[in-house]
Amino acid sequence: MSSDISTDRSDPTTGLSPANLAYTPTGRLAGKVALVTGAAGNLGSVIVRHYLREGAVVVLSGRTRSKLEAVRDAALLETGAPPAHADVVVMDGADPVSVRAGMAELQARHGRLDILVNNAGTAGPRQPMEKVPLTREELDALRAAGSADTETLGDAMRNILGLTWNTLRAAAPLLKAGASVINISTIFSRTQYYGRVAYVVPKAALNALSRQWADELGARGVRVNNLLPGPIRSERIRSVFATMDQLKGAQSGATAQDFFEMMTLKRGYDGGEPKKDYPVPPDIAHTCVFLGSDESLAFNGHNFEVTHGMKVLQESRSTWVSRPALRTVDAVGHTVLISAGDQIDDALGIARLHAELGACVILGLPREAWCSEARERLTGQRGRIDVRLFDRTDPATMQAALAVEGDGPITAAVVMPAHGPERFQGSITEAEDDDIEAFIEEELGGAIAIARMLSRYWQERTDLPHEPRYVFVTNASEGAAEGATSSKNAWAYMWRSAMEALIRVWRDESEVDVHLGRRRLPEWGNQIIRYDNTEPENLPF
Ligand code: NAP
Repeated sequence: MSSDISTDRSDPTTGLSPANLAYTPTGRLAGKVALVTGAAGNLGSVIVRHYLREGAVVVLSGRTRSKLEAVRDAALLETGAPPAHADVVVMDGADPVSVRAGMAELQARHGRLDILVNNAGTAGPRQPMEKVPLTREELDALRAAGSADTETLGDAMRNILGLTWNTLRAAAPLLKAGASVINISTIFSRTQYYGRVAYVVPKAALNALSRQWADELGARGVRVNNLLPGPIRSERIRSVFATMDQLKGAQSGATAQDFFEMMTLKRGYDGGEPKKDYPVPPDIAHTCVFLGSDESLAFNGHNFEVTHGMKVLQESRSTWVSRPALRTVDAVGHTVLISAGDQIDDALGIARLHAELGACVILGLPREAWCSEARERLTGQRGRIDVRLFDRTDPATMQAALAVEGDGPITAAVVMPAHGPERFQGSITEAEDDDIEAFIEEELGGAIAIARMLSRYWQERTDLPHEPRYVFVTNASEGAAEGATSSKNAWAYMWRSAMEALIRVWRDESEVDVHLGRRRLPEWGNQIIRYDNTEPENLPF
C-alpha cells in the first residue's frame, strides 16, 4: 500500500460528537415518521441517530428484537430524543407475510409513513461462481470445509432484493404525496466484485427496481431515490475484503487498494492530510437525512453515489455487437448451447440461425413436452440441432445434458430468459408474492445456476480449442403495451440490469482464475438487448 492510503482499522462511529448529537425538535426531519430497515446494523444504527437528532419519529426494524432495542436505547440516550420518537417493529423482510404484519403494526401505532429507508440486506455467500451454494446441502458442505457462509443463493436474493421489494410493496399504501423512499444498493453492483455474484446480481436488479418505482410512485407524488455506498468504513467491509483477498489469492489489502485507486477524492479526517480512505457511516446518514427531508423534494429516480468519487460507469459498454465490417459469420467447428425457457419459437429461430452458420447446436429446453415439440418442428434439420432437457431450476438436468458427448466440447452458449415477455408484466408495486418468488427463483437464480454450470464445465474441460464465449439475450419483445413510447416492462429492465452484473463478475472471476492457474482459458461474455419500443435512445440501436 502506498503511504497516502489509510490503514486505519478503528470502529465506525456516529460521526457526531456529544455536543452536536442533541435532539433538535425543529430539525430537518421534524414531524416526519421514518422506517429504517436493518436499523441495528453498521449503517442503520447511524442513520437512526441522525434521524432522531433531526426530529423524526423513527421506527427501527430488523429480524432481531434484542439488537433493535439495544440500538434504540443507546440512540435515545445519546441524542436525548423523547422515548416516543423511537419505536421497534420486528420484521423479516424476506417473508412478505411478516412484512405485512409489521407494516400493519406500524400503521396502528403511527398512522402514517413519510420516509422509508430500505437499508437492510445481507452479504450473501462469498464464493466464486462455480461454488455458489444453491441448496442447503451444498451450503453445509462448504461450511464443513471451513466456510463461514450462512446463506444459499436463494436466501441471499430474498434477503437483498426480496426484502426491499416486500417492504416497499407493503409500505406503498401508507406513502402519501411528499413521502420519500431511499433504497440502499451498492456501487459494487457496477464494478467487478470477486466471489460476490450472489450479492451484486440482486443489488443490480434493485437499481432497476428503484428507477421503475420512481416512475410508478412519482406519479403519486412519492419520490424514490437509490443510494449506492462505496466501501464504507465498517466491520462488514473489512471482513468482505479480507475474504476477497483470500479467495483471489491476493495480498492482504489488495482488494481495498483496487477500490482506492478508483476513488478520485482524497479526504482529510480530523484535520489531517487528505488521503485515500473509505467514506464513513455518517456520510450515508447525511445523504439519507437530505433525501428524507423536504430539501430533496425535486429529486426522483436518481442514484446518489457515496463513494469518494469512484470512477464507475453507469453501465457496461462493449463494441462486441458493433462490427460494421463483419458481413459473414462462420460458426463451423463450434458447438453452441442455447438455453431457452418457454419462448420456443424464438429459441428455434436462434437455434436454426446457428445451425445454418455451421454450428453444431444443443438446444436446451426445460420441459420434456417442449423438447418433443421442438424435435418435431426441427424434422429435417435434426442432424445439426440436438434438443435436450435443460432445466435451470434443476441442476441435475443441466449436468446430464452437458455430459452427453457430441461433436466436441461446447465452446459457446446463448442464455435466454426463463420466460417469454408475457410471464412477468405490470406494476412492480402491486406484484403478487408468487410472481416475485418466481422471478427471483427462475429468472435471477436460474441464470446464475446456468452460469455456475457452464463455469464448472469450462473449468473441467481440457480440450477447449479456444476461449469459450457466452451471451445473455433478452426476449425479442419487452412486452411493453402496444404503442408505448417507453419500456414499461420493469421486469425485463431488472433482468438485463442483473445480467449485466452477472457477466461483469463472471468475466473478472475467470480472468483472475486464469492468472492464478485455476483455469486454462478465460470465459468471455456479453449481453444482447433486443428492444421493440420507441424510446428515443433505442432507435439508433
Ligand atoms: P449490516 O451491518 O450487516 O446490517 C444489515 C442489517 O440488515 C442487519 O442489522 C440485519 O439485522 C438486517 N437484515 C438482514 N436481513 C434481513 C431480513 N431478511 N429482514 C430484516 N432485516 C434484515 O450491514 P451494513 O454494512 O450496515 O449495510 C447496510 C446496507 O448498506 C446493506 O444493504 C448493504 O448492502 C449496503 N452497503 C454496505 C456497504 C458497507 O461498506 N458496509 C457498502 C455498500 C452497500 P438482523 O440480522 O438482526 O435482521
